[in-house]
Amino acid sequence: MRPFEYVRATDAASATAALAAIPQAKYLAGGSNLLDLMKEDVERPTRLVDITRLPLREITRSRAGLSIGALATNTETANHPLIRENYPLLTQAIVAGASGQLRNMATNGGNLLQRTRCNYFYDTSMPCNKREVGSGCAAREGLNRISAILGWSEACVATYPGDMATALYALDAQVRVRAPDGRERLITITDFHRLPGTTPERDNNLEHGDLIVAIELPVSSSDFARNSHYLKVRDRASYAFAMVSVAAALDMEGSRIRQARVVMGSVAHKPWRSAEAEAVLVGQRADEATFQRAAQAALRDARPLAHNAYKVELGHRSVVRALMRAARLA
Ligand SMILES: Cc1cc2nc3c(=O)[nH]c(=O)nc-3n(C[C@H](O)[C@H](O)[C@H](O)COP(=O)(O)OP(=O)(O)OC[C@H]3O[C@@H](n4cnc5c(N)ncnc54)[C@H](O)[C@@H]3O)c2cc1C
Ligand code: SF4
Repeated sequence: MRPFEYVRATDAASATAALAAIPQAKYLAGGSNLLDLMKEDVERPTRLVDITRLPLREITRSRAGLSIGALATNTETANHPLIRENYPLLTQAIVAGASGQLRNMATNGGNLLQRTRCNYFYDTSMPCNKREVGSGCAAREGLNRISAILGWSEACVATYPGDMATALYALDAQVRVRAPDGRERLITITDFHRLPGTTPERDNNLEHGDLIVAIELPVSSSDFARNSHYLKVRDRASYAFAMVSVAAALDMEGSRIRQARVVMGSVAHKPWRSAEAEAVLVGQRADEATFQRAAQAALRDARPLAHNAYKVELGHRSVVRALMRAARLA
């Protein structure tokens, strides 16, 4: 590991100031992704600003719904009674990720910002535009079984691997961010992560120095509490990233679908919310035929690579199964 300076912040203002002052500085939360990447020489911060002592751990009711502190751990978040009761999809998604020990360390802010698990990103002997701008993309013609089937570019075919964010996309979350000048703003979750385009080195729309302070969930998303399901398909039954995941949420009136959310994980550079699938579902009867049509719409634009055509069929079946379970038909 390369030498770095360690700074422990005591409040949000000193944290953002300490970070903004150094272009290569990074916040340190649970450290479960950042420290691994530093050991692999993929991330090379010259300063770590430890934010773990900041008072950003609360999960509280807000006027808009629920405010979840950026430094609450994944375990605290998944187990919180208000989340279990009103947003069970989020609990399901979080507990599908990592292991108990990791969820005890990982924070919500750090989880949102976890980096891709593309093998070439971790291998510093290989070209990777995300790690080293302009060096090329080894996965494009290499082993791309775990890569994207939607929204990729010639510059990068990586996927975003997180589970929690996939559920947050279905729950219309917003991310509360504090800039170094002290101003706070809300970023709609679907605008938080980016597609790779020609700038795959940028995973999200944060600016240097921005500190995530909370994730906000609207009251209205609790309408999905009764009929939601998070499905994660992976190589091993636990402690593995998704090959494909689906966050499915329905707001039902009898057997009719009033509102729907369909979000796929690990198929693109960001969780992939399918407006097309949702349009197929709204106003329809909840049954397998409807869900098959929704899955077709969700995967219509898929462009598989040499080794991941299986994700198209897997994605289709996963959307159908997640919707069947959300509707309590399976
Ligand atoms: C072996 C393994 C398996 C895993 N499996 C899964 C899985 O299946 N599904 C899943 O979703 N996750 C999984 N995880 C967890 C995930 O990949 C991350 O390790 C974890 O969520 C990161 O959280 P952290 O608090 O430790 O972040 P850190 O490692 O501390 O930080 C990650 C990044 O976020 C930045 N950051 C952190 N907090 C803030 C903030 N408040 N504001 C601005 N920037 C911030 C840091 O600077 C850093 O760049 C796994 C992890 C491991 C090691
Ligand atoms: S897919 Fe993206 S992360 Fe993977 S090697 Fe290509 S540029 Fe790097």
